[in-house]
Amino acid sequence: MLTSKRILVTGGAGFLGSHLCERLIAEGHDVLCVDNYFTGRKANLLGLLDEPLFELMRHDVTFPLYVEVDEIYNLACPASPVHYQHDPVQTTKTSVHGAINVLGLAKRLRAKVFQASTSEVYGDPEVHPQPEESRGSINPIGPRACYDEGKRCAETLFFDYHRQHGIPIRVARIFNTYGPRMHPDDGRVVSNFIMQALRGEPITIYGNGSQTRAFCYVDDLIEGFLRLMRAPDEVTGPINLGNPVETTIRELAETIIRMTGSKSTLIEKPLPQDDPVRRCPDITKAKTLLDWSPKVPLEVGLEKTIAYFSKLA
Ligand code: NAD
Ligand code: UDP
Repeated sequence: MLTSKRILVTGGAGFLGSHLCERLIAEGHDVLCVDNYFTGRKANLLGLLDEPLFELMRHDVTFPLYVEVDEIYNLACPASPVHYQHDPVQTTKTSVHGAINVLGLAKRLRAKVFQASTSEVYGDPEVHPQPEESRGSINPIGPRACYDEGKRCAETLFFDYHRQHGIPIRVARIFNTYGPRMHPDDGRVVSNFIMQALRGEPITIYGNGSQTRAFCYVDDLIEGFLRLMRAPDEVTGPINLGNPVETTIRELAETIIRMTGSKSTLIEKPLPQDDPVRRCPDITKAKTLLDWSPKVPLEVGLEKTIAYFSKLA
């Protein structure tokens, strides 16, 4: 039996945050969710609002927060390229000032703190699949830099607070994750393709669709979060969490058309600047240190995600 803790989840009204809050509440923890609703929605938390152990607070993490908790998961930050490029200055502030504020809180409370970092720290990767040792290849002045460099700076802050102040940290580098409660209009590839297929609209392939990603189902990822948080303190990360099954974007489109029975056609649109050509995690560390690997095959996860989006289309 796990001991019940008071846990802060920033960005808890978003896609991943809402699944994390649900899982923590199901385990009997006292959860404080903070969010400024930039991309998150209260609707994601409908199942939790009546739970006595769940509390929801509107708050922007670029401002300090004074609460009393035992553990912190820092997820606040828009994740879709469309959303994070909408107000790039705010995106960097959310990552950097947000990290400073949660780390300051963790320092005062001597609380363990988890950072939702990203495979984007590898940029357009030079090593494939990407191991944690890879240092990344990033355009620091390109349109993705607000997110990539913000997240890299947040990692720096986490490790400096750990070395300088002894704060227990956990840094997860999350690879493309999908599932129910992704925002239908957030522009990410899985939500775009499913919504387009369900509406019978053309499927928008950026470039020729030969670029690859590896897609992890949300339940697998959340299990990885919990295992990392509960690992011994020397397991700080950074640690890759993702599903190491690589697929091209064109294959993904064809799979979604087949699974939805859609009559949508494929159309090519210009490839966005700095769009990584390949991405796939090396999860050796997660397997060895956390005994974690994803269990949900792409088509099983897509089926659940299509069922969710069918209710919205
Ligand atoms: P999301 O956009 O659904 O959720 C982000 C949440 O953060 C939203 O609820 C949003 O309103 C909130 N937020 C944004 N700025 C904020 C601020 N200044 N103060 C308070 N709240 C703020 O995205 P997601 O997919 O759930 O991603 C969650 C985290 O995981 C992010 O940090 C993201 O960078 C990271 N991540 C996600 C993926 C993925 O594939 N989903 C991949 C890599 C990293
Ligand atoms: N993509 C696409 N069509 C879309 C949306 C995205 O072809 O409608 C491509 C995008 O160019 C990228 C991949 O799908 O190569 C994944 O994009 P996403 O925005 O989901 O996340 P990223 O991994 O780029 O952060």
